Amino acid sequence: MRKKIIAGNWKMNIKPSETAALIKAVAEATKDYSNVEIVCCTPAIDVPAAVEAAKGTAVGVGTENCHWKESGAYTGEISTGMIVDAGCKYVITGHSERRQYFGETDETVNLRTRAAIAAGLTCMMCIGETLEEREAGKLVEVIERQMNVGLKDVTAADCAKLVIAYEPVWAIGTGKTATPDQAQEVHALIRATLAKLVGAETAETVRIQYGGSMKPGNAAELLAKKDIDGGLIGGAALKAADFAGIIAAAAAAN
Ligand code: PEP
Repeated sequence: MRKKIIAGNWKMNIKPSETAALIKAVAEATKDYSNVEIVCCTPAIDVPAAVEAAKGTAVGVGTENCHWKESGAYTGEISTGMIVDAGCKYVITGHSERRQYFGETDETVNLRTRAAIAAGLTCMMCIGETLEEREAGKLVEVIERQMNVGLKDVTAADCAKLVIAYEPVWAIGTGKTATPDQAQEVHALIRATLAKLVGAETAETVRIQYGGSMKPGNAAELLAKKDIDGGLIGGAALKAADFAGIIAAAAAAN
């Protein structure tokens, strides 16, 4: 039984002074859903306020990126040791916006993912195809490459700290959602690819989130699918009521 995991990705949207109110509102609105793992991934500068506000609640805090080196001359980056020290338990790696705007590659996603797992963080590694890749019939090739390279040297034991987020790039922030059947088809492919990498038994235990314009109105039908174990939520994570609506759908789907 895979516990559903719903994680918000705040991106560059919430200021430190706005953070405590949003975390507290999320915690209050979701306090009855103990069968769902609830996470807010915030800008690094919001983390102290988020961790403080989340104390004594079921909301876990994470960051939106991490570097693979422990320390050094990497201006603008944050290490996994810093993230753990700040009180986070989660991190996102390989988000499509980092791939698109910040030169992230499958190889650097692999380095960040391995560093996150080694530090004891639960790592939500994002993969997903662009519209051009889908229309060119390259969906399977892209997903397999992102999985094979992104998870190079990740062991079956490491998978206890791994979550895969399937985020079709064409559905992120666009209002276009993959249909539940389209999403399930790719989630099944991801699990089958994972089985080849770490064994079928381990692959069955790894949670695979869907991300891409998930909202209260479409969450239930997506989360009802066999291989959809949660969501990575952008826009709808910025309003506690919307985020809680998705978590309620996950609780009912469990
Ligand atoms: C995301 O950025 O991970 C995401 C899924 O965004 P949105 O929910 O806004 O599409």
